[in-house]
Amino acid sequence: MKESEKCMEQRRREMVDALRCNGISNRKVLDAFLKVERHRFFPEDAIALAYDDGAYPIGFAQTISQPFTVAYMTTLLVERAPSGRVLEIGTGTGYQAAILEALGYSVFTVERIFELFQRAERLFARLGLSVACRYGDGTLGWKEEAPFDAIIVTAGAPEEPSPLKEQLAENGCMIIPVGDRRSQQMTVVQRVGEEFRKEEFQQFVFVPLIGSAGWNDIGKGNTD
Ligand code: SAM
Repeated sequence: MKESEKCMEQRRREMVDALRCNGISNRKVLDAFLKVERHRFFPEDAIALAYDDGAYPIGFAQTISQPFTVAYMTTLLVERAPSGRVLEIGTGTGYQAAILEALGYSVFTVERIFELFQRAERLFARLGLSVACRYGDGTLGWKEEAPFDAIIVTAGAPEEPSPLKEQLAENGCMIIPVGDRRSQQMTVVQRVGEEFRKEEFQQFVFVPLIGSAGWNDIGKGNTD
């Protein structure tokens, strides 16, 4: 193993230790964070920062989410849907999708910015990941592939998009930050028959979910 790779592996271990200290305790989730090389998804000129616990700009006013945020959402998902088909809205760099694939899910992901979609699609191929990705408005979901055991939305929404609720399998869950443009509450929606049960968790700050069932203008995003 090259010296630089050893160093990245060491930094990855430190990142996972920091996640544990911050309350992430699910063993499978922590193992996925040890396995997936976040620096592969990080802008090349800032690779030294890849294992800091922070969000980082990836261009087009978007960010790769903070590891803690990804781990928090992933834990909510794993606890409610331990296996099956997962739809992610907001591919970004592809890191969250890679974490989900490392956990054994069949992963589908949608991105609305063409350049990010293309970049992620190429990276998945280069890393040999079998994530299915699509360019488009993710607030409409991915009807042809529905139903999903879980849906994870990695941008802040004004409310839970109804097309996504409709694409949940029986007992399926959606993890989605919901709120205004400044801050959002992490929300889990579980489908039980024709009912949707809601649980609310802590506050986060995400870039906006832009689309026909999301925000309808392109304001400047925040960081998450
Ligand atoms: N999950 C990403 C990762 O692991 O790098 C980070 C996601 S970034 C915080 C939010 C992403 O959501 C951005 O790439 C943004 O373009 C995307 N997005 C916003 N609205 C969307 C929509 N309606 N459909 C699909 N993607 C959307």
